[in-house]
Amino acid sequence: MSFLKEIERRRTFGIISHPDAGKTTLTEKLLLFGGAIQEAGAVKNNKIKKGATSDFMEIERQRGISVATSVLAFIYKDKKINILDTPGHKDFAEDTFRTLTAVDSVIVVIDVAKGVEEQTEKLVEVCRMRNIPIIVFINKLDREGKDAFDLLDEVEQKLGLTVTPLSFPIGMGYDFKGIYNIWDKTLNLFSGDKKQVVSEGVEFDDIDNPELDTMIGEKAANQLREELELAIEVYPDFDLEAYRSGHQQPVFFGSALNNFGVKELLDCFIEIAPSPQPKKAEERLVDSKEKELTGFVFKIHANMDPKHRDRLAFVKIVSGTFKRNAPYLHVRHNKKLKFSSPNAFFAEKKEIVEESFPGDIVGLHDTGHFKIGDTLTEGEVLHFKGVPSFSPEHFRYVNNADPMKSKQLTKGLDQLMDEGVAQLFTLEMNGRKVIGTVGALQYEVIQYRLEHEYGAKCTYENLNVHKACWVEPTDPKNDEFADFKRVKQRYLAKDKQGQLVFLADSAFTMQMTQSKYPSVKLHFTSEY
Ligand code: GDP
Repeated sequence: MSFLKEIERRRTFGIISHPDAGKTTLTEKLLLFGGAIQEAGAVKNNKIKKGATSDFMEIERQRGISVATSVLAFIYKDKKINILDTPGHKDFAEDTFRTLTAVDSVIVVIDVAKGVEEQTEKLVEVCRMRNIPIIVFINKLDREGKDAFDLLDEVEQKLGLTVTPLSFPIGMGYDFKGIYNIWDKTLNLFSGDKKQVVSEGVEFDDIDNPELDTMIGEKAANQLREELELAIEVYPDFDLEAYRSGHQQPVFFGSALNNFGVKELLDCFIEIAPSPQPKKAEERLVDSKEKELTGFVFKIHANMDPKHRDRLAFVKIVSGTFKRNAPYLHVRHNKKLKFSSPNAFFAEKKEIVEESFPGDIVGLHDTGHFKIGDTLTEGEVLHFKGVPSFSPEHFRYVNNADPMKSKQLTKGLDQLMDEGVAQLFTLEMNGRKVIGTVGALQYEVIQYRLEHEYGAKCTYENLNVHKACWVEPTDPKNDEFADFKRVKQRYLAKDKQGQLVFLADSAFTMQMTQSKYPSVKLHFTSEY
């Protein structure tokens, strides 16, 4: 197969949702269509369960699963589909944000009864910022839920999207009769007892056809006709360009658990979802069709076996062909590296591959060379954009609890930070180290992993910080910046890259500081 054909047939995407909306179930059904797994239950749920076991055991279990489900790939109708796993738990939201830098599109799953939930809002906001094409799947239609039009309104308002339904439900819950697919003009009838049977829809290009009345009853048929008429009136026609540029979002309805409406979603997805897209580097825009290899690290996973300290760095290929044993430039280290056993992912397995193409993810064994955001090329100096750090939400001092193991602590912290578990700040004034995280759970993860993987012990101490702001002196030579540094000395720190950060104790302080020192810009992400 030609290089261009390989690119064209790839679809790399993520499924995002609030926990419990049905992401795992949908993933599993999609894999069934690829024949990639034989039975239900093969995709492990990577949710963090609270309560049953202690949290860190749960974290270890989750880590094991998330290595296995980091990338799930399968072939469907000759398309190579790569699903990138995104943790739903809010404490791991940063992982999801970073994964979103490696997808070409997303599917958002929404629970028909719960509608748009908190995590959905946050994740969609990140997609919108990047104009990532979004398809919405409204799930659990076999249950009583909100009215279809109300839901579409809610999606538009709460998520700031411009929707167009490509399928429409007939009834819901107890009365759920099926789905009319506007996209390919077929009718799919639901029978609650025919669970998980892959069904083909009946073609129905004219819904005025009286046969519809015999199939679903006159009342339901008329209601469907009315609703479709209204939907066509209210919502814009599907526009491929608008979808691909992130300006219009098609909506499907279904029930993942019953495998209902999933095939329709997938059939449409492979038609409309974009193949690997060009990606911005600081230096230039890199097109997927370029012959020379480029790629970037968006995720690092530590080995589950503490005796082997190696890690797996996940690289998204942006352009060119990744070849086993070929020398590639690690741009940050300015060093050529060869990889003798790059892993590719297929279904829930990983295997060594000779070649991978744009859109694919390769897993590279790493003994500490990589960190998130690193770029690989054939020699060109490129830095891919879009893997920023966001300001953490929680801050604590970290103290060494075992003076004999300070080296181990430093190394452990260093490597865990490279993996993106949390962010480390060093106070300018006294060199004390502060760990910033998105969720409180990460402190347990760090403590547990430091002890089990590095033999180091730490304790924490609270610190009253509201947000970390990256400091950009627009005019570094003026007195204002010097004044800022002198007055705010106690609150200044360096991040791991050596960038200056202001640790503000409240939103008020932040505002006051910004207005007092207008030439010193405060940013909420490390990339500005
Ligand atoms: P995730 O947290 O988003 O990955 O959600 P899961 O896929 O684990 O689903 C959460 C729960 O909803 C599970 O108990 C599923 O069996 C259930 N579920 C998923 N899809 C459907 C559906 O279409 N109908 C019904 N009734 N339940 C569903």
